[in-house]
Amino acid sequence: MHVLHVSAECYPAAKTGGLGDVVGALPKYLNDAGVDASVIIPKYSLKWFAEQEWEILFTGQVRMHIWGVPYQVQRLVNGDLGFQLYVVHIPGKFDRAGVYSDQNGYFGDSFERWICFQQAVLQWILLTQLPITHIHCHDHHTGLIPFMMRYCSIYQDLQGMPSFLTIHNGGYQGRYSWSNNYLLPYYDPYAAGMLDWENSINMLGSAIKCCWAFNTVSPSYLEEMKTSSLGLEGLLNLEWMKGSGIVNGIDTEVWDPRTDPMIGVHLKDDDFLSYKRGNKAILCERFGLDPGLPILTFIGRMVHQKGVDVLSDAIWSIVQHTKQIQFVILGSGEAIYEDPYKSLAHHHGDQVKTIIQYNEALSHQLYAGSDFLLMPSREEPCGLNQLYSMRYGTIPMVRRTGGLQDTVIDVDDWQGTGICFDQLTTGDLIHSFYRAMRLYQHKSRLYSIMQEAMTRDHSWERVAQDYIAWYKYYMGIE
Ligand code: ADP
Repeated sequence: MHVLHVSAECYPAAKTGGLGDVVGALPKYLNDAGVDASVIIPKYSLKWFAEQEWEILFTGQVRMHIWGVPYQVQRLVNGDLGFQLYVVHIPGKFDRAGVYSDQNGYFGDSFERWICFQQAVLQWILLTQLPITHIHCHDHHTGLIPFMMRYCSIYQDLQGMPSFLTIHNGGYQGRYSWSNNYLLPYYDPYAAGMLDWENSINMLGSAIKCCWAFNTVSPSYLEEMKTSSLGLEGLLNLEWMKGSGIVNGIDTEVWDPRTDPMIGVHLKDDDFLSYKRGNKAILCERFGLDPGLPILTFIGRMVHQKGVDVLSDAIWSIVQHTKQIQFVILGSGEAIYEDPYKSLAHHHGDQVKTIIQYNEALSHQLYAGSDFLLMPSREEPCGLNQLYSMRYGTIPMVRRTGGLQDTVIDVDDWQGTGICFDQLTTGDLIHSFYRAMRLYQHKSRLYSIMQEAMTRDHSWERVAQDYIAWYKYYMGIE
């Protein structure tokens, strides 16, 4: 088997969230497990790309309406990613300082960009006769590939090749007006319905219809999508036989408290207390926090999905009632969600520290040095932060939804390692804050739960086997 992963993100090249983490790790572990796996993404004008050496493998041109769009496929030379990384260089479309947006906002030509990228990938596979056995698409940005393989005459030689889809986030579907139809390559007109969902071209919907099999990144999220997925519910119920749920792994080589170069104190000789206290002391020093009080941290995108609006209300409320709790907020996103945290830091700067930025190194230090990690998500397809936090001995505080429900057990239950709550309300959140503060008083219990959390196995070694079984099942391989 040789699988080509097609994606918008891949860590460490380009990452804005969990999609990048997964595509940067799964192929490495598939390779280790004996399945050849490589990755292709667009080439962005980001720092990492400029620092690497690239070999041009192929030069071509895709047609978009009356325009010829030139592109190059390049290969990373001397990479030690654990898989072959290819990039598609499309001048004018992807040579920008961001994946989906830059400092001026979201790019307005996303339909054209993704159409060109997907076509370039298919054309390259076809013309270079790459020895791949199947294609694995990730999220809506690559969602028209299964359709184009089946219904576009120029790609008909790929018709029989299995295509798989992973839905990392069904909240983003790539929904476009039919007025964009003229930008698509010619396809059999009777197949237009395979592009359509609710009178729009829906890239994710089309992928669900046309792929051989799809999965979501946790079983609970798949079930949730069948009842609530911004209009795709009917389709998911219709296509249920192709759907599975596979919980993400984490890259335990990158995320290793014993060796992580981004944290100050490593875990040595299983001396948990020195590791945890050492990292907390560094955090407290840096942000002027009190090491004697609990630190509750949020790391993530400042968007509606993450429940950050209710979280800021709950923090406002608790800091007015007690001084026995501290918060660190690291995130960026929409101003409407960022502003309350800036305001909190302004008015309650001794208890709330707000860092509005994307900062990979700081995120590692926070996983290592905090006591609790907050995830009050409205929905969470899988969630990686809770897995990283457990690996670094920090107790996740999660709303029971999607992958959070599948990976975190409440501390009051057998072998629990987290604080769980059901509703995204200030009431439930404040109750959880008090639970965290109470737990923090009982240090022996606190430390034993933290250490128990560190033993949870969410490694990709195990998850890669699930993916291999999934491929084989739908490809009819014993
Ligand atoms: P999503 O993909 O919905 O954003 P996940 O929990 O699956 O959420 O993955 C989030 C990933 O992005 C984690 O690796 C997290 O550490 C990282 N991340 C999110 N926001 C930031 C930030 N502001 N700084 C550093 N890392 C961040």
